[in-house]
Amino acid sequence: MFDNLTEKFERAFKVLKGQGQITEINVAETLKEVRRALLDADVNFKTAKEFTNTVKEKALGRDVLTAVSPGQLMTKILHEELVNLMGGEEVELKYQGNPGIILMSGLQGSGKTTFSGKLANFLKNKKGKNPLLVACDVYRPAAIDQLHVLGEQLGVEVYSNKEEKNPVKIAEAAIQHAKSKGFNVVIVDTAGRLAIDEQMMNEIADVKNAIKPTETLFVVDSMTGQDAVNTAKAFNDRIDFDGVVLTKLDGDTRGGAALTIKTVVDKPIKFVGTGEKMEALDVFYPKRMADRILG
Ligand code: GDP
Repeated sequence: MFDNLTEKFERAFKVLKGQGQITEINVAETLKEVRRALLDADVNFKTAKEFTNTVKEKALGRDVLTAVSPGQLMTKILHEELVNLMGGEEVELKYQGNPGIILMSGLQGSGKTTFSGKLANFLKNKKGKNPLLVACDVYRPAAIDQLHVLGEQLGVEVYSNKEEKNPVKIAEAAIQHAKSKGFNVVIVDTAGRLAIDEQMMNEIADVKNAIKPTETLFVVDSMTGQDAVNTAKAFNDRIDFDGVVLTKLDGDTRGGAALTIKTVVDKPIKFVGTGEKMEALDVFYPKRMADRILG
């Protein structure tokens, strides 16, 4: 994960780590390398610049030039700022309720259905919940079948109705079903499309207004870099989601989405997907992610 970024940060710090006497020029050089590494990781220019400016201010404020080990101090400051960039403290998923309702949003192929299964698995096995999965994709019968396959594999019931073409009605009926059968969390998978379009947004907004979810999540493929960030912004402007799920972090992703989504939409990343298997799900902890990035 983010191997490239880790390697570039290491290279940037070489100068500071090897030097006995540190000058302002050394620090500036290092920060220039850090900025370059961030840009290569697909962090946008403004964020990368602000980030390095903050690191610089902190470094000079803490007298990095006279520190015993300037390299270590700089690494510490960089770590703190990476944590801040990714949201600081972790923010937990809200799933309590009678039932708790979690609504998925995102483009087709982002990993919504896979994540819905992973989340059901997580809530069932790690949180002792009794989840119900709901297939609300009224366009692609294959998506409904896919959720049924996952449900069967996980031993989680899947609610669907291929005759009904109104996702709001499906979601409402599913919640009634959950109430009458004692399911305490309902996970609603919705239809995505290949690109942002008005109808998809209206549909998710309608479902959201009707069922008043405890939590609305936006699922996005981290491999799509800055597109992921732009898509997040478009969805957030329209449906005001509560948290982000970054998928496919196991792939050759550069890290830009993880590092910039919080700054752009001011919503926390809550989970990351790290594979196709149902267990390949991690709760997102900014501190742990910063540890991983810094190697
Ligand atoms: P949806 O259209 O948003 O419901 O997307 P899917 O859940 O069908 O996922 C699209 C593809 O991405 C599938 O082939 C999934 O197996 C794959 N996928 C989903 N999440 C991950 C992940 O975290 N890592 C990897 N490597 N593949 C994933």
